[in-house]
Amino acid sequence: MARPPSPHRLTVESLTAPLGLDELAPRFSWQLRPGKRHQAQVAYRLVVESIAPAAPVWDSGRVASDASHLVTYAGPALSPHTPYTWSVQIWTAETDQPSPAATAQFSTGFLGTAWPAEADWIGLPLPDYGDVQPVRQLRRNFELSAAPADARLYLTARGLFEAELNGERLGRDVLTPGWTDYHQRIDVLTHDVTALLRAGPNTLGAHLAEGWFAGELGFMPERHLYGTEPGLRACLRLVDTAGRVTWLTTDDAWRGRASAILGSSIYHGETHDARREIADWCAPHPARAGGWKPVVVQPAPDPAPTLEAKFLPPVRVVAERSPAAPTSPTRGTFIYDLGQNIVGVVRLRVQAPRGTKIRLRFGEMLQADGTLYTENLRRARATDTYICAGGGVETWTPRFTFHGFRYVELTGLPGRPRPDAVTGLVWTSDLAPAGDFTCSHPLVNRLQSNIQWGQRGNFLDVPTDCPQRDERLGWSGDAQVFAPTALFNSASGVFWRKYCRDLRDAQQPDGAFTDVAPDILAILAARQNTHRWGGNAAWADAGVVIPWAVYQRTGDLGILRENFTAMRAWIDYQEKTSTNLVRPDTAYGDWVATDAVRPAWAPTPCDLIGTAYFAHTTDLTARAATLLGDEHGAAALRRLHTRVLAAFRREYVAPSGRLAGDTQTAYCLALAFDLLPEKLRPAAVAHLRRTIQRRHDHLATGFVGTHLICPVLTACGAHDLAVKLLLNDDYPSWLMPVKNGATTIWERWNSWTPETGFGPVDMNSFNHYAFGAIGEWLYRDLAGLGSAAPGYRRLRFTPRPGDGLTHASAWHETPYGRAACGWKKKRDGTVEIDVTVPPNTGADLILPDGTPHSLRPGRHRFSCPAKG
Ligand code: BGC
Repeated sequence: MARPPSPHRLTVESLTAPLGLDELAPRFSWQLRPGKRHQAQVAYRLVVESIAPAAPVWDSGRVASDASHLVTYAGPALSPHTPYTWSVQIWTAETDQPSPAATAQFSTGFLGTAWPAEADWIGLPLPDYGDVQPVRQLRRNFELSAAPADARLYLTARGLFEAELNGERLGRDVLTPGWTDYHQRIDVLTHDVTALLRAGPNTLGAHLAEGWFAGELGFMPERHLYGTEPGLRACLRLVDTAGRVTWLTTDDAWRGRASAILGSSIYHGETHDARREIADWCAPHPARAGGWKPVVVQPAPDPAPTLEAKFLPPVRVVAERSPAAPTSPTRGTFIYDLGQNIVGVVRLRVQAPRGTKIRLRFGEMLQADGTLYTENLRRARATDTYICAGGGVETWTPRFTFHGFRYVELTGLPGRPRPDAVTGLVWTSDLAPAGDFTCSHPLVNRLQSNIQWGQRGNFLDVPTDCPQRDERLGWSGDAQVFAPTALFNSASGVFWRKYCRDLRDAQQPDGAFTDVAPDILAILAARQNTHRWGGNAAWADAGVVIPWAVYQRTGDLGILRENFTAMRAWIDYQEKTSTNLVRPDTAYGDWVATDAVRPAWAPTPCDLIGTAYFAHTTDLTARAATLLGDEHGAAALRRLHTRVLAAFRREYVAPSGRLAGDTQTAYCLALAFDLLPEKLRPAAVAHLRRTIQRRHDHLATGFVGTHLICPVLTACGAHDLAVKLLLNDDYPSWLMPVKNGATTIWERWNSWTPETGFGPVDMNSFNHYAFGAIGEWLYRDLAGLGSAAPGYRRLRFTPRPGDGLTHASAWHETPYGRAACGWKKKRDGTVEIDVTVPPNTGADLILPDGTPHSLRPGRHRFSCPAKG
């Protein structure tokens, strides 16, 4: 029997060949190649070696195990600042022969050791220009007697940076180091710059902007939330051929100037005066002109924030979009339509006389007269300005702002723009696409695309509510309802791990998770002496729900371990601040439910939502305790859960199964979180059906109920009604916006309607992912691709045809490889089912007629009668 093929798709901490890892015991993953044989691993061998000098570090030997995902390093302590190779061989059941080894690399960062003391935070104070501050350019010339054998550059900022070395931009990342609670921790970016350095003069430089750190942020006109002056901290670790290490760091030898970027603000846009550019500003021996001044060494922040290697992919340009020819609704105004609401910036190409001021404004929608609609941006001016240097075609891209837009308005150009004047650059945290759903209904396919675009645009290091107005905050309620969908669409486990860290950093001392993370609202509340924003039902619960969802999809117990103390504290908080275990009336309720906006129907009581989530999060935390081996803690949590259930039933459930409020969302919560006595479930399902019927088979749910309604209906035997809700295309429904041209998910069911036009401008985003949380149901319940064990160790396929659709299918990149599930109705009344089981897993399939099958890895086709 031939030996197994070498494994592939090697990752460390779910990243491909990461640099500067700060994990003391990194975890290795690989996949078996799909094929006819060798589909079940029975053993593996991991070998880690250092590269320079080449030396063995750890050899696991043959380990009898089927584990191929997140296998923890167990060798001697890894050294900081060291490149390593690692290789893996596997054995399968068919033969004693091991596979050939597959090899990949990673390197370590500081691993908890201190940065060199001489690495200062440096900045360049400038006069206060108001809410749009100039961007600094900082640089340092240095001589090397010889090219280094190894050179690693670690960079971070209190603000945003973009670095260059010898005139070359480092990487493709934007908005680095990303957004964290800068007082507590800041991410570090690592670059291998060995090939860029040379004997003789070299220059390291960076643009430094205010960004989230010091720029305007939040829905009140406030700046300087984390500090007044942006700062850069960097260190370049040089190793010569003899192995000697020297450091070059940010210090008072650096020089700085106000760059050609006269102003940059996340909300308001960027202004660039090309006449101020110094072309070779970061090349060795740059021109002397430009007003370079000594930088200022900033006092070290006290307490010092933790500097940690960034463990999620940074924001990058992932796609470009070229619009068709512009319209010109008024003289000198050109409107471009990218055909898609995106988040990012525009690359401008123009030719105009020196000093020409070109203005770009951004909007998600147009007014009826074809002009730009910007009212819903609230205070965000979202305006970029470019002042031409003259003398040829000029290309410009802003660096430290972003916009949420489909339409671009260009003014200020004498004459007509070139055909390539405007290109949309799509920005997002660069997570690998990991799934898609498709079916026979074009509007549903567009809905799926809108969900994915909403995710792309709102995943900029933090999951934001919206990307366009003066908000763009990491609202926890939006995040927790959407996380399960996001985990299907992209490899977002690491992204959510980061957001959970943001939630923990924001958690209040009494255990309340906050409404947003990073929690700038706490800073604003302290400054303005107003109430705190935290502990709210369905928002604060993100601190438990998200780690649990990530564990379910990735199988990573580490996410529970990291968050458990914080989860537990949130449960204690809920217990302490409840009355007889009933939660108080907290903010938000079933946010933007049509119940809430049409008061003819009572909204879902907020205390009911809170108590339902109290039970649910206690249940999840109890399960986490069990998984982490804390049986004692788990038992206490289970007892609490039983008591909260009793409180819920006592307070909100009538003997008829009718719930307080009698809303769709109330029934969805009770059924989804399993809060009812078994004997009352059928009655509650009947009540849920009735609340839907009284809306003429339409939903009335907000953020809290919308992601549950279809899953609950399907789970409770009303799949046809769930499909009907999906396929409605009149208000309120998922497809109404799609039918009316939406290319992303809207904030409200009535953000725009043909009858009433635009919804209230104070809160009307056209790119708000929360209602896109239906995505989980599309993948799992409609196409039928689910997991039977955490991390897809075993899969569960439940393809469920529905009226109005002739086929539906989904694929997803599981930790073990690609899984797929789909169904297709045939003319003869049968349904054809196609599934793909990834290597090294197994699957349970329940055919639409109820027949179960147990499946091995590979592709399988079944046929059965349409209905059981
Ligand atoms: C945001 C929401 C958020 C809400 C809290 C809004 O301004 O856009 O998505 O969850 O506030 O109620």
